[in-house]
Amino acid sequence: MNYNTEILSPTDENIEKAGNLIKSGEVVGIPTETVYGLAADATDPDAVSKIFVAKGRPQDNPLIVHISYKSDIEKYAHDIPEIAYRIADKFWPGPLTMVLPKKDIIPEVTSGGLDTVGIRFPANAIAQKIIKSAGVPLAAPSANLSGKPSTTTAKHVYDDMNGRISAIVDGGACSVGVESTVISFSGEDVIILRPGFVSKEDLLSVADNVIIDKGVLSEMSEDAVVASPGMKYKHYSPKANVIIVEGEYDKFLSFFEKNYSEGVYAMIFGNETTEFPYPHFSYGKTDSEQAIELFDKLRMADDMNAKTVYVRCPSKDGVGLAVYNRLIRAAGFEVIKL
Ligand code: AMP
Ligand code: MG
Repeated sequence: MNYNTEILSPTDENIEKAGNLIKSGEVVGIPTETVYGLAADATDPDAVSKIFVAKGRPQDNPLIVHISYKSDIEKYAHDIPEIAYRIADKFWPGPLTMVLPKKDIIPEVTSGGLDTVGIRFPANAIAQKIIKSAGVPLAAPSANLSGKPSTTTAKHVYDDMNGRISAIVDGGACSVGVESTVISFSGEDVIILRPGFVSKEDLLSVADNVIIDKGVLSEMSEDAVVASPGMKYKHYSPKANVIIVEGEYDKFLSFFEKNYSEGVYAMIFGNETTEFPYPHFSYGKTDSEQAIELFDKLRMADDMNAKTVYVRCPSKDGVGLAVYNRLIRAAGFEVIKL
């Protein structure tokens, strides 16, 4: 692993170049609407192994397979329930992954040894062009080093992956900012394994019953058998000690006043910055803005050598649930209620 990592602008020529690199078994950083991904041919075990090496990712953590035609779902999955087609019609292309029984063409290294596969048709136009140019489905986990916050710009990818992959296609900042909603099915019920931009409320427009898996909001031990293996790993973890603080702004301010010392930062909402008199980051006013900014701000905290970051607790509705789900993992489940 000693690549001269090239940053490619998304011209037609460079998209073809990225497609050819993937076809020849290499790993390329690509933009999607959720976060940047590390893409390789999902059907080629050697290529997929390179993703695990580049990320330092545990082998039992499955990768999502990215397609560029809805009908391709049938090439990689079998026994697809009728509700999955209705959900694909409503939310694809988009930030939603469906876990389905896998066909043999998807190797075990891609599915983390499971007999299911997560499949997504991303909405980002550059991602779609790269998948079409490669002519193969792309296994593409988030393009961060395992355990670090996910990557939402090409620069984040370069910071983590320089020398570890062949190229990065720069498609600008991601429009959603948190990873896809991951769902599975139990009969006609939809189970949310990982919350994302497509919310429980959105899914209820198509499904009668949507269940949030218990792994979404609670801590899972390393040896637990969990529905979504990514849930049990310490994730999104900056070097700083991240602590979520629940409560009104005034209470947060007096709590921070008592706990402030050098290297301690607050992470507050975008509309609170003018009043807040201590060192701080802000991560958006609304839940969707918070999703877009979250990983950039966690990475920024590392760049500034923050020791402790006290974070204003986001709402747990809509996309807020996705933001909260990532934050409690960054915080190692440490929440202070005021
Ligand atoms: P990432 O690629 O970093 O966005 O992580 C993908 C996550 O999606 C994994 O860590 C799992 O939690 C989930 N996932 C992917 N494939 C499956 C699957 N076959 N079954 C359950 N969860 C999956
Ligand atoms: Mg990830």
